[in-house]
Amino acid sequence: MELPLVLEQKFQTLLQRYPIKRSALVPMALYAQDVFGYVNDDLIAEIARRIDLSPLHVNETLAYYSMIRRKPAGKHHVQVCTNVSCMLRGGNQIYDFVRKKLEISHKEVTADGMFSLEEVECIGACTGAPAMQINYDFYENLTQRSTDQLLDALDKGSRPARTQPTSGAVHERHPAEVPVISRLFGVPDSHKLDVYLQHDGYKGLERALKELTPDQVVEEVKKSNLRGRGGAGFPTGMKWSFVPKDPGKTKYILCNADESEPGTCKDRPLMEMAPHQLIEGVVIAGRAVEAHRGYIYIRGEYRYVLEIVDAAIEEAYARGYLGKNILGSGFDFDLTTHTGAGAYECGEESALMESLEGKRGYPRIRPPFPAVVGLYGAPTVINNVETLSAVPSILHRGAEWYSSLGSAKNGGTRLFCISGHVNRPGIYELPMGFNLKRMLEEVAGGISRGRKLKAVIPGGSSCPLLKAEEIDLPMDFDSLAKAGSMLGSGGVVVIDEGTCMVDLARRIMHFYAHESCGWCIPCREGTAWLRKMLDRFHSGGGRREDIALIGELSKNMLGRTFCPLGDAAALPTISIVKKWPHEFEAHLAGNCPYQPAEALTAVFG
Ligand code: SF4
Repeated sequence: MELPLVLEQKFQTLLQRYPIKRSALVPMALYAQDVFGYVNDDLIAEIARRIDLSPLHVNETLAYYSMIRRKPAGKHHVQVCTNVSCMLRGGNQIYDFVRKKLEISHKEVTADGMFSLEEVECIGACTGAPAMQINYDFYENLTQRSTDQLLDALDKGSRPARTQPTSGAVHERHPAEVPVISRLFGVPDSHKLDVYLQHDGYKGLERALKELTPDQVVEEVKKSNLRGRGGAGFPTGMKWSFVPKDPGKTKYILCNADESEPGTCKDRPLMEMAPHQLIEGVVIAGRAVEAHRGYIYIRGEYRYVLEIVDAAIEEAYARGYLGKNILGSGFDFDLTTHTGAGAYECGEESALMESLEGKRGYPRIRPPFPAVVGLYGAPTVINNVETLSAVPSILHRGAEWYSSLGSAKNGGTRLFCISGHVNRPGIYELPMGFNLKRMLEEVAGGISRGRKLKAVIPGGSSCPLLKAEEIDLPMDFDSLAKAGSMLGSGGVVVIDEGTCMVDLARRIMHFYAHESCGWCIPCREGTAWLRKMLDRFHSGGGRREDIALIGELSKNMLGRTFCPLGDAAALPTISIVKKWPHEFEAHLAGNCPYQPAEALTAVFG
């Protein structure tokens, strides 16, 4: 099959990027889709031929990834998020409006081929909710009017500018904020190397290469009390120390930029506004464990970010911060990006490695752990974007300084994405251990529309919920665990008194049922059953005995699955049934006693 030149060149680049050809599978399909609108059988066969795989294998692998389309889409593919943060601010109403205006439903195309529509899971714009993506452009803080104007403009042939990250990450600093990794947010051209150098860029790397041994770099990170920001909170330096010390052995640094936890949207502005900070963090990690190759795995929806990071990598190579003999130290490091294609499960570290190897993103059974047997069977360090972005400042300004910014055993600062029913949703960099009540009342401006607080999801949708009276606590890993919840990925979702908790549980379960990879039965069957039960309950068909059953079914999933997704689905559900049983009982009369649409007038003009 003869390909357009631009695609041919892309395929050639991708095929040279990895040690095995199969790794190029998903990116090749996604780029082919960009050109042809979908991936047809001929393209499947062509990709298969180039990576020495059967078309059947290519087809079954691609079927796993929700962004890969096997049927044509419209010229403008409209994807409306209705996940938790968007739901709380009118996402369902925006979806209904688009559906009626375009006269099409989920996964349909208008007769003239101009538009197609999809209701999608979290797109990583939670602080700018309600939000949608059209092709790869993000549009945030939508109202009915702005959505109407946007669709009309596209229909007339113009392409309105996508929303800048101002809605979430760039705002007037609150005095409590301590800008360390977000210090470049809002600085003009901050993605460029020269601007980064003016803000202490690559000074941490210089110290790591010229003044410290690899072991000393690991020790410095250990002393900083930096804990993984992806969710688990594992001490980063300790994780690095598990990698076997064998300088001759191939090892990898893998950056997890597959940010998909509902309520969390910080990796996007970090990569968009400070890509060199991330690159520097990856190279320092390489120096620490004596690895010479790294990949940044970026979720497929963040296409424009991928291009920004690619340009920054190119700049870093040109100026000697990547490649051979970095800063004259004799240390070599190569770095490239990789794109996912829509699968929450690939955020799990072993599933991410499978995906990078060109397979379905199924998790691996552990042990062995990635530090010993990881990507391509080699020892691998895998860290999240926020974690690696913190490393340059630690190396430049010292472990003691960084550690002192946070609380005991929880060093430094972190980015909190505050979304939902607050007056000032946004991404705020605050010291670890900052009080949650103050965070909502002072930093995020209090509960919107003068309402009362009902609940908080403290760290992304997989965390047990806190009641309003439980939020006077420090936001660090240990305090949240003590309170029966988790700090997770820092996605703080705020829920006011007008919200139906049964509806919220229903929406959360829809997400996990959609994202379950289906490998293990408790997760596959459990999430599907719970989704059905919660749907039925919310629409008035629930039975009294279902209340206990929902809790029991959720508990049966805990600890019985290959990866944490089963627990992620169960934990918020258990907490909602336990803390708000009266709301389930109120639905036994047949109707939802809440009227979510009424609560949204402030954002739905
Ligand atoms: Fe797949 Fe769910 Fe099992 Fe994880 S817990 S492996 S997502 S079926």
